[in-house]
Amino acid sequence: MIQEKERSELISDIIKYSALGYERFLTIADSGNVSCRFGDGILVTGSGVELGEVTENGILHLDMNGNILSNPLGLKPSKEASMHLSIYRLRPDVNSIYHVHPAYTTAYAVKGMTIPFLTSTAKRKIVKTPLVPYAEPGSEKLGDYVAEAILATGNESIKSLLLEGHGILTFADSVKLSFQLAELLEVTAKIAFLSQSIVDKS
Ligand SMILES: [Zn+2]
Repeated sequence: MIQEKERSELISDIIKYSALGYERFLTIADSGNVSCRFGDGILVTGSGVELGEVTENGILHLDMNGNILSNPLGLKPSKEASMHLSIYRLRPDVNSIYHVHPAYTTAYAVKGMTIPFLTSTAKRKIVKTPLVPYAEPGSEKLGDYVAEAILATGNESIKSLLLEGHGILTFADSVKLSFQLAELLEVTAKIAFLSQSIVDKS
């Protein structure tokens, strides 16, 4: 019973924060995916599901090896679920992952550049967003690169990664916090970009 209540609360959070990310242009069309830990596996949005229109039936339950435990609509699991699982396996402190392709952060990602953290909020709340080398979205190689980037940061417990030529991953204790980190990272990239076009007074 308790697990059922926990499941419905987590599903409500995934639906709410997926829709919010879509409304705030963190992603478009059917790109991006959101997940959280549940029981001995994860809940994750299905392949082809638009983040603006996630429903309870559009969320799959997978075990930690990516096997399907529940899939009401018979959707394909997101091809990027393996990337999420790589992080959950290495970081027991992470309970939710948010993956989107927002315009400003992805502009830095396609240039192969890390995002300049110019604001105190970004420095304090995000700390660091390492760049993960490019690999085909959904590939095993990308999952390996993500795992390597996490391991390379050791005890730093980073909360985000920039995927070269692709998008961002943010991870936190809850769906709400992983969404907020994605939003903050995008605003941080936007501020860095806009500040370059302002002519210095001096
Ligand atoms: Zn992606």
